[in-house]
Amino acid sequence: MDTEFLINGTFTGGTGAAEAILNPRTGETILDLPEASADQVEAAVAAANEAFDGWSRTTPAERSTALLRIADRIEADAEAFGALEAQNCGKPINAAIGDEVPAIVDTYRYFAGAVRNMHGPLAGEYMEGFTSMIRRDPVGVVASVAPWNYPAMMMAWKLAPALAGGNTVVFKPSEQTPLTALKLARILAEELPKGVVNVITGRGETVGNTLVTHPGIDMISLTGDVATGKKMLQAAAKSVKRTHLELGGKAPVIVFDDADLTEVVEGIRAFGYYNAGQDCTAACRIYASEKTYENLVADLTSAVSGIAYAQADDTTNEIGPLISARQRDRVASFVERARELKHIEITTGGRTHGDNGFYYTPTVIAGARQEDEIVQREVFGPVVSVTPFKEVDQAVQWANDSDYGLASSIWTRDIGRAMSTAARLRYGCTWVNTHFMLVNEMPHGGLKSSGYGKDMSMYALEDYTVVRHVMVKH
Ligand code: NAD
Repeated sequence: MDTEFLINGTFTGGTGAAEAILNPRTGETILDLPEASADQVEAAVAAANEAFDGWSRTTPAERSTALLRIADRIEADAEAFGALEAQNCGKPINAAIGDEVPAIVDTYRYFAGAVRNMHGPLAGEYMEGFTSMIRRDPVGVVASVAPWNYPAMMMAWKLAPALAGGNTVVFKPSEQTPLTALKLARILAEELPKGVVNVITGRGETVGNTLVTHPGIDMISLTGDVATGKKMLQAAAKSVKRTHLELGGKAPVIVFDDADLTEVVEGIRAFGYYNAGQDCTAACRIYASEKTYENLVADLTSAVSGIAYAQADDTTNEIGPLISARQRDRVASFVERARELKHIEITTGGRTHGDNGFYYTPTVIAGARQEDEIVQREVFGPVVSVTPFKEVDQAVQWANDSDYGLASSIWTRDIGRAMSTAARLRYGCTWVNTHFMLVNEMPHGGLKSSGYGKDMSMYALEDYTVVRHVMVKH
C-alpha cells in the first residue's frame, strides 16, 4: 500500500502526527498514517510554485497527452483502485470498480479533449489603431482540498481541469480517505514533471489550514462542508485568493400526480441511498402530491426495506456503511430527533446495524413537515423524508426554501409542467424523471450555501483559468 507523499517529484513519509485510517465495513484500522508537517506543506507549496513556470508554458496538446496517459493508467489498474477505494470508504466493490473508476477515467479524458477546444471572443480592432485579443491563462498554484465521500472522483474533478488549464497543484485528500490519492501519486510522479502535482495528507485544521492560508497559494478549491467553505473564504480574504467551493446539498424531489410511480420509487431507491446517502445530490427530500403520497410512501418503504447492505459477500451489497462512527451517530441523532415529533412516522429503518462497522439501516421518514430539521438540514446518510403537497406553488416554494441550492428533480409525464417548474427552481441542476445523472460535458455546482464554482464541463476549465486582455498598438 502506498503511504508516502509526493513532494517535488519525490516520495517521502509524513513527519506529523499519525491518523488512524479505518475500514468502515469493520471499524478496524487499516494503517496509521502520519500527516504532513508544516515543513512538508511548505515544501509542497514551494515545489508547485517552482513547477508553475514550466507547466504553464506547455501547449494544450502536451497537457492533454499527460491527462490521457493518466486516464489510461488508472483504467489499466481499475480493479486495484476500486478495491482500495472500497476498503477505505466502505463502498460496495461493484460500485467502486464499476461506477466510479470509469467516471474518473472519463473525467481525465474529457479535460484532455476540452483544453484543446476552448473558445472565446474574436481578436479585433475594437479601438482604432489597436488590436485586442483575449487569452485564458492559468490561475497559478491551486490548493485542492477534497472530502471523503468520493475521494478519487473528487481528486479527478479537481486535478483534471486545474492541470488542463496549466496550473500546478498541492492536493490534500480527506484525512479519513487518503489511500487512493497516495496510490495515484505514483502515477502522477511518472506522468508529470516534478512539482506539477504534490500530494500531502492530514487533518483540516492543521495541514489544510496551513495550506490554504499560505501566501504561495493563488486559488483554493474545496469540496466539503458549508462551515469549511466559510473558513476557506476567511483564509482567502487575507490575500484575495480565488476560491472554488462545492459545498453541501439537500436535494428536493417533486413528484406530481401524473408521475410514473414505479419509476419514481426505483429512482429514489437508487439515488436517495447510493453511497449510503453520503452524496451532496442525494434524492433525500421528497415532496409528493397529495394524490400520490400514500402510494409513494407504501411502495418506497417496501422498496427501501429490500436494499442490500452489510452482506458478507460484498458483491451483493447495494450500499455500504457510513464513513465513520461519528457520521453514523450523527445520522442516528437526526433520525432520533425526527422520531420525537408526533406527526412523523419512520416506515422502515431508523436504527444502526450490527456491532462491526458503521452501518445505518436505509430509512424512510413519512409525514415530515417543511419546518422539520430532517427536511431542512443535510443528513448525509441513507435517510429520505417524504412530505405531501397540495399544489405546484407550494411544492416550488418548499423546494426553494432551503439554504442549499445544488441539485433537484421533478417527476411528471407533462413536459410543460416539468419545464415551467424547472425554470422556477433555484438549484444548480434540475433533472426531469431522473436524478443524480452526471456527465463530464455538463457542469456540476450549486447556488446559495452549496457554494459556487463548477466541476466538470467547460465551465470548470473556465473556473481554473483567468481571462486576460492583450492589446497591441499598430
Ligand atoms: P469537510 O468540510 O469536513 O472536509 C472537507 C475537506 O476540508 C477535508 O479534506 C478536510 O480535511 C478539509 N478541511 C476541514 N477543515 C479545514 C480547514 N479549517 N482548513 C482547510 N481544510 C479543512 O467535509 P467532509 O466531511 O469531508 O465531506 C462531507 C461534506 O462535503 C458534506 O457536507 C457534503 O455535502 C460535501 N460535499 C459536497 C459536494 C459538492 O459537489 N457540492 C461533493 C461531495 C461532498
